[in-house]
Amino acid sequence: MKIYDFLIIGAGSGGCNCAHYLQQRGLSVAIADKEGVASGGSGAAGAFLSPLAGVQNSYNRFINSALEYSLEFYEKMTPNSIVKKGVLRVENNNFNSAKLQTNSIKNHYISAKELQEISQNFTQIDGYFYENAAILNPHEVCQELIKECDFYNYNVKELKYEDGLYIFDDFKAKNIILAQGVIKSIVETPYIKIAPIFGVKIDVKTTTKVPFNIHKSISVSTNKKDSTISIGATKERHDTSEMECLTSCDKCAFYVNNEQGQVEELLKDARELIKLEDVKVTKVYRGARATIKSYFPVIGKVIDYEQSLKKYPSIKNGTKIPPELLTYFENLYIINALGSRGFVVAPMLAKLLCEEILDSKKVPQELSNEKLFYKMARTKVST
Ligand SMILES: Cc1cc2nc3c(=O)[nH]c(=O)nc-3n(C[C@H](O)[C@H](O)[C@H](O)COP(=O)(O)OP(=O)(O)OC[C@H]3O[C@@H](n4cnc5c(N)ncnc54)[C@H](O)[C@@H]3O)c2cc1C
Repeated sequence: MKIYDFLIIGAGSGGCNCAHYLQQRGLSVAIADKEGVASGGSGAAGAFLSPLAGVQNSYNRFINSALEYSLEFYEKMTPNSIVKKGVLRVENNNFNSAKLQTNSIKNHYISAKELQEISQNFTQIDGYFYENAAILNPHEVCQELIKECDFYNYNVKELKYEDGLYIFDDFKAKNIILAQGVIKSIVETPYIKIAPIFGVKIDVKTTTKVPFNIHKSISVSTNKKDSTISIGATKERHDTSEMECLTSCDKCAFYVNNEQGQVEELLKDARELIKLEDVKVTKVYRGARATIKSYFPVIGKVIDYEQSLKKYPSIKNGTKIPPELLTYFENLYIINALGSRGFVVAPMLAKLLCEEILDSKKVPQELSNEKLFYKMARTKVST
């Protein structure tokens, strides 16, 4: 029976980037997904690579450095799956013009008149242009990342660990990385409270040339290599962060009955930015992205919540127990909560996580699951 160094559970942006990194480091890697490659949030993603504007803080610093890293990474790795023509950010409720101007990322203002000179299809909008932005083909990228790994179309329901190995029907693995997105985790991680945020993307054939990506509350892409454009938005949040996804969005009763309305809304919002001619919707994708309250993604070795608290119950009262004394699941790691920029952050997160595993380099505090563990353990006592 084949023994892999790593099994990655979930073939989305998070899992595929980890698989690629580990395989490049000479390890044997298998990746399993119950639905197929890029079938979750990653398949529905724009997938726009865009900067995060605003006064510098730890979060947008993280996003913008991940963007630099990922643009270079994808341009080298999958040059045929990336179109880099920049993005026009149009003011909206979250990003007013003050916020769009006040940041460390190079940009320039384009007036409505100048936009008309670029293309008469633009409506009366103006905005801020950021050169360092692109769009990817998420399916092609994920496939390319794992082309040297073994793929199993397999629903991993539980983990069986014996004599230093995780055991499955057809193979064994020394290490596991959970990259499950919004789907219910197969191990208990109550301190990672994933909130699924649902979104829709459509691929559209049009004779209109869209010179660059446009973002407002929705995103309209420039024409991709096959000349189609993508229009996407994530808006709908499940009403509780306690809700766990047990299936993909395409099968979820919460969404399936509303496709026509979702598509029409996207086209209407897109036409408020640019006139689109001879429109034919060729494909609709639905998916949910995983977000947690702090917005930062989560990577690292997985802490066993129950056992750690059993061992050190005084953590609940605020006693400082260093992370190295906590109990961790054996050879089990996680990458999740990639948020609204999963394709932007995944290459860098994969590198950071795998360097922690292989080279004992600590992951930055703001990305670690330890912070979430302590937070939950300490707040539980006062509630
Ligand atoms: C509509 C939409 C638009 C988006 N737009 C952008 C964008 O423009 N730019 C950007 O960077 N990001 C965007 N995102 C966010 C980005 O797509 C996500 O953050 C990222 O793709 C999440 O990747 P993931 O690997 O963590 O999860 P997913 O892609 O959801 O992958 C998880 C996979 O795990 C599998 N799985 C789960 N449990 C099991 C199990 N037990 N056994 C086997 N398989 C399992 C699932 O089938 C799934 O395929 C968007 C998201 C959505 C929904």
